[in-house]
Amino acid sequence: MKNIFIKNITLIDGTKANILIAKGKFQSITKVDDSNEILNDIPNVKLIDGNGKAIIPAFYNAHTHAAMTLLRSYSEDKILQKWLSDVWKKEATLTETDIYNGTRLAIVEMIRSGSVFFADMYWHHSAIIKAAKDMGVRVNAGITFMDSLDKKTQNTNMEFIKNYIPDDMINISVAPHAVYTCNKNLYKECYKVAENRNFMLQTHLCETEQEVNDCLSKYNLTPVEFLDDVGVLNSNTVAAHCVHLTEKDADILAKRGVKVVHNPCSNMKLASGIFPYSLHKKAGTSIILGTDGCASNNSLSMLEEMKFAALLAKVSTNNPVSLPAEEVFQWATMDSAAVFGLKAGKIEEGFLADCLLINLNHVSLVPNNNLIASLVYSAESECIDSVICNGNLLMENRYMEKEEEIIDILKHKTI
Ligand SMILES: [Zn+2]
Repeated sequence: MKNIFIKNITLIDGTKANILIAKGKFQSITKVDDSNEILNDIPNVKLIDGNGKAIIPAFYNAHTHAAMTLLRSYSEDKILQKWLSDVWKKEATLTETDIYNGTRLAIVEMIRSGSVFFADMYWHHSAIIKAAKDMGVRVNAGITFMDSLDKKTQNTNMEFIKNYIPDDMINISVAPHAVYTCNKNLYKECYKVAENRNFMLQTHLCETEQEVNDCLSKYNLTPVEFLDDVGVLNSNTVAAHCVHLTEKDADILAKRGVKVVHNPCSNMKLASGIFPYSLHKKAGTSIILGTDGCASNNSLSMLEEMKFAALLAKVSTNNPVSLPAEEVFQWATMDSAAVFGLKAGKIEEGFLADCLLINLNHVSLVPNNNLIASLVYSAESECIDSVICNGNLLMENRYMEKEEEIIDILKHKTI
């Protein structure tokens, strides 16, 4: 691993610094005047000229199904039930190799739009983990469970979880899919193994009105009340969507410390509903941000996701002050990193060296009146010049080594 020295780079607050990255972390962030002194002592350094660039934390995509890139634009403008049946039918035909290739394609797109981490939930977790390792990004791979999964695979997955040794690059979680696909006992089993190994538990929750109505008919409880009754809600639970909630539901989520992932594009595209920003804020829920899969977004850009989240919060509350740029930027960076146990998401000494070098001369950022507002409201992915994860350069001057090869494999593949 080569050390990286970034000279004369602009920080978010507009000041300039020299930054040394070594052993996967930010080792020093100093005033520009001290640069020569530091450089003399450091062998094996790659020097990056930071002039005209800003350094910001990378993005942490808190909920996706990466290999769904394979289903991009496959089932469009359909009602939810039809969309789901199209998607599930096609997913049943995907092989482990398809998942590997689809996940790598997703990672190319995520790196190009600034994400160095994704929390995933899909089949063939070994292919997902291998793809993340090969591409040099971080992942939290949700080992997915549903009632319909055969018993043998469920047992194999449970054994895998019991024995898995995680690290800062590759971690796993236990992922019972949703209340409409997993029964009480399966949730309990998932919770038990997650608790024993101190892994997170990921699930979809209250995504659609139908999910809530079906749960009420079946259990006489809302999905949140049902999961609380089962005993799986706590600060290690990550719940995607949380769109259709009662006040009591929001209070339960906040009280239990559940981490809610907002997926605005997917919710809008599938007309699932409007994320109740005010309700969550009032309850004090902890919120982070994800893209969801490509079949319902159809992009994996966290820049887009931040903008849609902010705009949706404003229009749904009829208040332009709702969800300011700084808040949604924090969801996408340090808050999401912290939820998944990473000391990252900030440009600070001792933090994991995950960052983006932003081209301040890109047309979408000029003039630089307020960098965070520009990143949320006007930035295009092309303003991301370079991407560093764990101290390694994954993209430099918009060039990624493996991109062409990965696109070549899939560019003629229609499903
Ligand atoms: Zn999802």
